[in-house]
Amino acid sequence: MAAHSDNNEQIGGLEDGAWKKKSAEHQKQYSNMLKRADRNKVLKKLPDLHEEAFSKVDCLQCAACCKNYSPRFKTPDIKRISKHLKMKESVFIETYLRLDEEGDYVVKQTPCAFLGADNYCSIYDVRPSDCERFPYTDEDVILKRLPLTLKNSSFCPAVYYVLERLLKG
Ligand code: SF4
Ligand code: SF4
Repeated sequence: MAAHSDNNEQIGGLEDGAWKKKSAEHQKQYSNMLKRADRNKVLKKLPDLHEEAFSKVDCLQCAACCKNYSPRFKTPDIKRISKHLKMKESVFIETYLRLDEEGDYVVKQTPCAFLGADNYCSIYDVRPSDCERFPYTDEDVILKRLPLTLKNSSFCPAVYYVLERLLKG
């Protein structure tokens, strides 16, 4: 798409990490834009923007989510992962998880125990649904959960990229 290349050139800082400063400066603009956005128009744009963002961002060079935050481990996640690891669910929970303030199971400590030194996830095929969906750049979560989107834009370059593209209209 020709229009993309013009816009892309203006969204810099992904290579040298300068995007974090820009993201911090643009939080208010992101918030206003997402509050006022035409939901259907944004949802229509998201698949392309999501793809575009991940053509520029390499999760294996980043892993900021797995290093600093935890997914929720819901019951189906726990069942699937403990089975994969051939562990009793109770032992899996005891070994890796704790309950957070909201009553969800999360990793005992960060970085996530399943993150390798090479930034690969050792349980990738059975990883929690939250991990599979993160950073929600192709879902309406980006509009529905504004505080979460803003927080994610501070550490996830893909969210930053999508919000910058949406800002440009
Ligand atoms: S923070 Fe975003 S870009 Fe980085 S690894 Fe996670 S999803 Fe990928
Ligand atoms: S389970 Fe895998 S994808 Fe999810 S936080 Fe841990 S290392 Fe990352």
